[in-house]
Amino acid sequence: MRTLEAIPPAGADAVAGVYVHLPFCPYICPYCDFAKWAWDAARAARYLDALHAELRAAPAVRARTLFFGGGTPTTYRPEQIGGLVAAVRERFALPADAEITVEANPDPPLVAKLRGLREGGVNRLSIGVQSFVADELHVLGRRHTAADVEAVVRGAREAGFANLSLDLIFGAPGQSEASWAASLDAAIALGVEHLSCYGLTIEAGTPYATWFARDPAAFAGESLEAELYARAIARLREAGFEHYEISNWAKPGFRSQHNAGYWRNDPYLGLGVGAASYRAGVRATHTRELAAYCDAALAGVPIPGESEQLEGAARAGEAIMLALRTSEGVDTMAFRERYGINVRERYRGVIDDLVAAGVLETAGGALRLTERGRFVANDVCGAFLAD
Ligand code: SF4
Repeated sequence: MRTLEAIPPAGADAVAGVYVHLPFCPYICPYCDFAKWAWDAARAARYLDALHAELRAAPAVRARTLFFGGGTPTTYRPEQIGGLVAAVRERFALPADAEITVEANPDPPLVAKLRGLREGGVNRLSIGVQSFVADELHVLGRRHTAADVEAVVRGAREAGFANLSLDLIFGAPGQSEASWAASLDAAIALGVEHLSCYGLTIEAGTPYATWFARDPAAFAGESLEAELYARAIARLREAGFEHYEISNWAKPGFRSQHNAGYWRNDPYLGLGVGAASYRAGVRATHTRELAAYCDAALAGVPIPGESEQLEGAARAGEAIMLALRTSEGVDTMAFRERYGINVRERYRGVIDDLVAAGVLETAGGALRLTERGRFVANDVCGAFLAD
């Protein structure tokens, strides 16, 4: 597998990655704010037709990676996902060894689909585990068990997957330092190549938001969240993972190439309901209305949605914010070549304040979060957007 560092930025006629949104789930989790719907065979079939129609009409750019997110993409049959892989390969000239990721829910039905997914060209799975602790899975509304996750990882290896990622959530109601450590240890013991650990966020309009409004004490406070994050950093370092992005850890050579394109601020193309694209400085987001998306895609007319042109300071601030998420930070020389902005001069006041606060460091030609800065990353990154 090529390392991330060996991949140059996307050229003008290329996008770093193609994202395909498959929005159906076997059930709906109470904290989730993604564009998703409970599985419905008729709607899912129409949606697949709409996706293929959008694909056929999409600009024929070259792409390097493909990512199926959701929703739970694996609610579709492997041959349906394989059909999309083939269509994307043809339309966007994916390299033969391109990273092709599918998000998967580790429910028992997944095991029977793994071989078909691998044969369909998928070479990386991002598995939504969230926790290995039964009480936490229950409160998160997840229906799988720790044993189901083990069966999926074993089945994935047997099917030929050499690149597996698990998602974990910290800050779940009822979670303790000990139970979080147990989940981390269980994930490490499975020998996966990549882990994403996200702090639980309360999204407006979800059942969790209602619960939080009623009983905020049921949720982890800031200090417990910080302790859980610190434990992840320490434990995963011991286990040989690189902490290469605020929420992501990888064994050497297994960083997510698709997500790296986002953090480099490279162009990308999103297909499907609610999907976002970024090309030529324009960020466009498709409607989150399922019927409106399908109607437009099938009729061959532009998908409704929103777009904004990012220019000047907004574009530079966004690029800095994304790069600061990574362990390499902002390469100030490369930034100057690409955006024509001397970061150290343009943001001198912000940088001086953040360095004095111990959350940002300047090393060689780079600008990086310190270990402490990773705990307040949103505030640090936000300072560049606000300036
Ligand atoms: S499975 Fe994932 S996308 Fe579906 S409702 Fe749960 S968290 Fe949301």
